[in-house]
Amino acid sequence: RLSNELIEMKGNIRVFCRCRPLNAGEILNGSAASVLNFEASSDYELQVVASDSTKKQFKFDHVFKPEDNQEAVFAQTKPVIASVLDGFNVCIFAYGQTGTGKTFTMEGTPEQRGVNYRTLEELFRIAEERHGVMKYELCVSMLEVYNEKIRDLLVENSSQTKKLEVKQSAEGTQEVPGLVEAPVYGTEDVWELLKTGNRVRSVGSTSANELSSRSHCLLRVTVVGENLVNGDRTRSRLWLVDLAGSERVGKTEVEYLCSSCSHSYITNSLFNSYLCLVWNRNSKLTHILQSSLGGDCKTLMFVQVSPSETDLGETLCSLNFASRVR
Ligand code: ADP
Ligand code: MG
Repeated sequence: RLSNELIEMKGNIRVFCRCRPLNAGEILNGSAASVLNFEASSDYELQVVASDSTKKQFKFDHVFKPEDNQEAVFAQTKPVIASVLDGFNVCIFAYGQTGTGKTFTMEGTPEQRGVNYRTLEELFRIAEERHGVMKYELCVSMLEVYNEKIRDLLVENSSQTKKLEVKQSAEGTQEVPGLVEAPVYGTEDVWELLKTGNRVRSVGSTSANELSSRSHCLLRVTVVGENLVNGDRTRSRLWLVDLAGSERVGKTEVEYLCSSCSHSYITNSLFNSYLCLVWNRNSKLTHILQSSLGGDCKTLMFVQVSPSETDLGETLCSLNFASRVR
């Protein structure tokens, strides 16, 4: 049984590592020599060189280098998207220190759109391809978890919002009653909603950086499918999560997790304990994602890292943790 579970989890978790480019400030400061050696790295292995020139190698399902663009990242992400329309729950999330590109990967910019928009675009593309055989209805919700509070990002007038809580439904799934579920019929609708969500999110916050380092931003897509040939129905969820900065998590917690979980047979429970431990200050988040991450949910984690020497400690922490989840 244990080995079956292992195979199942191995098949259902993918871990991608993505490194952002050095920024102007870092180049000026002379940290231009990246501590990540990309010449000695491959698409699957990342080599880190410490200041005492010791080398460490980390394995991932894919390693994205600073020059890899949004298209390259999405090309690797795409295969998991069709699963949502096949009735599987999928969770894609970005993990890492503040400033390493979590938001860039998930959200992107209007010119370099990220995983969120591209994923919805791909869902519509496949749905169109299956036109006449399958009928799909897509709904989008957007929420923020901050200080144990859930905020609906699709509600513009926040003074009118009621308190949102996570409740277990009769089917055993975790739900947030009252959360806006906006039907979407095309990428235009999605783009408008993402803009609304970001606008609402920024209201009342002093700095964008402070906000995103402390709060989690979740995009939820609910897909209801109907097979027009045999009448079968599916209902699945896709979560796209931009996590709070990992530096907010006590290092000892992560180190403890890593050191106590070197046996791969507990990968499954490692992942669960990861949710409970690493996100314990945000148990709302754990609850929301709980039912989506169990069973045959497909999970894709982006571990975002900085190439700069000054971030080496945090980078090693993220890499150590992530390479063990896989
Ligand atoms: P985080 O969300 O992890 O705090 P951000 O996504 O805000 O980090 O990224 C920090 C800065 O680095 C932003 O200005 C972002 O545009 C830039 N950046 C991050 N990753 C990349 C990348 N792969 N290519 C170009 N710029 C990037
Ligand atoms: Mg961010």
